[in-house]
Amino acid sequence: MNHTVLSKRLETVGRFVPESARLADIGSDHAYLPVALMLNGKINFAVAGEVVKGPFESARRQVRKDGLNDRIIVRLANGLDAIEEQDEINAVTIAGMGGSLIRDILEAGVQNKRLKGSERLILQPNIGEKTVRVWLKEKNYQIVAESILEENKKIYEIIVAEKADSPVSYSEKELMFGPFLLKERDRVFQKKWQRELHQREVILEQLKKAGEPHRRETIQQEVDWIKEVLASCL
Ligand code: SAM
Repeated sequence: MNHTVLSKRLETVGRFVPESARLADIGSDHAYLPVALMLNGKINFAVAGEVVKGPFESARRQVRKDGLNDRIIVRLANGLDAIEEQDEINAVTIAGMGGSLIRDILEAGVQNKRLKGSERLILQPNIGEKTVRVWLKEKNYQIVAESILEENKKIYEIIVAEKADSPVSYSEKELMFGPFLLKERDRVFQKKWQRELHQREVILEQLKKAGEPHRRETIQQEVDWIKEVLASCL
């Protein structure tokens, strides 16, 4: 990959990073995102955090290769521990992980006060988007934008959130589909939920044989919602 050109997924994540941001990219791997945003003049400063030695070394090499050592600091750290007070971070990106891991990283960041609440969060869970939205709601973060895209036959959602002053509230349906995505219901959204519907119908068939009435009820409810949402797209 050219250093200034990102995958469609990371490019979309980057679009939600504010101009001139001081960014913390957590789980940065090769640091492609902060490097591209810096080379394109979008951000002023970045921390690239990595918990695994191999990707940490790759990120360090990439940053050095592009001569950005003084503007992108690569740190070997668990989650938001990569952020230090003097970094004055105002945007956090966490992309390419499961929703539960993203939730756990954010929660740990609240507990140890690495997350101040003034940062814009730009989150791209590979799965478990609802888990992320539930955490955001519980911690009073307002979802301010969402995006859905397809790349290499995979569908990705991006959730952008900022801490709210007044209590936020989302319905179960909004938590499942995403408040913005549910309103837009674009072609990729429909494709995703056709797939999800099919998967749930297969699971339901299996559960009918296995008993498990409670789990069956939950999935049946989801199936009903997906059908209703898809029918309204016609
Ligand atoms: N963010 C990049 C992207 O979206 O292309 C890389 C995604 S890669 C699949 C996930 C990266 O997150 C891995 O390099 C992994 O080592 C790192 N990671 C996983 N858990 C982490 C944690 N608790 N703190 C920091 N990095 C973590």
